[in-house]
Amino acid sequence: RAWPQKGNIVFKDVSLRYDRSREPVISNLNLHIPAGQKVGICGRTGSGKSSLVMSLFHMVDVFEGKILIDDIDTKLVPLQVLRSRLSVIPQDVIMFSGTIRENLDPQSVYTDMELWKSLELAQLKDAVSSLPGCLDAEVREGGGNLSAGERQLFCLARAILHNAACLVMDEATSSVDPSTEKALLAAATRAFAGKTVITIAHRLSTILDYDRILVLESGRIMEDGTPAQL
Ligand code: ATP
Ligand code: MG
Repeated sequence: RAWPQKGNIVFKDVSLRYDRSREPVISNLNLHIPAGQKVGICGRTGSGKSSLVMSLFHMVDVFEGKILIDDIDTKLVPLQVLRSRLSVIPQDVIMFSGTIRENLDPQSVYTDMELWKSLELAQLKDAVSSLPGCLDAEVREGGGNLSAGERQLFCLARAILHNAACLVMDEATSSVDPSTEKALLAAATRAFAGKTVITIAHRLSTILDYDRILVLESGRIMEDGTPAQL
């Protein structure tokens, strides 16, 4: 398999800003996430959680320092490669109008069996089976006929298909019901067993089985430990 094979992530003195003239949203952050670790990130709104994880994809305007994945400086990796080799489930998943199949597999490279398998792992098999047309059911523009939680589950199914070494999840803020949220995290943990998973969680209770929890405050890591230690 192509880079990254293991998903070992190192942040070296990383500072992030959206505007050169403003204070950094992440300041001089150092962090090592060993391959296979399950890391939860908590912190108040605006503390920099999404910025921190999106910096893995070079989605923050001004980026100082280095992020290494499996010893490769991500600044040396073409953006399109970087963004296609790590999987992300963003806070707000955007789906395009088209069928479930087209949303899952825009380049139609997977078999129906693989698509169903990914839906099953993402806990969406029953929901999709009950739609008229199943895989060929239409998704309304923007995914309007799906809940925010379901859109995230679809995104997880896509991530499972890609089989990346690293998964990043940013829990939806728009009141996803706790059971859907639990389903998302449980399905992701199962499907990405042994791989690196970084999850931004709003409730500590949803990530109690993680290896490590980071608490961010104003762009700095204030706590770093196992769930039991915090
Ligand atoms: P939440 O829990 O609400 O999702 P967060 O911890 O993910 O918050 P970030 O989204 O990383 O926080 O935001 C950190 C800071 O960066 C905030 O002050 C925010 O206003 C600012 N910020 C985030 N995205 C942008 C952007 N695209 N342009 C300018 N400023 C931004
Ligand atoms: Mg956020």
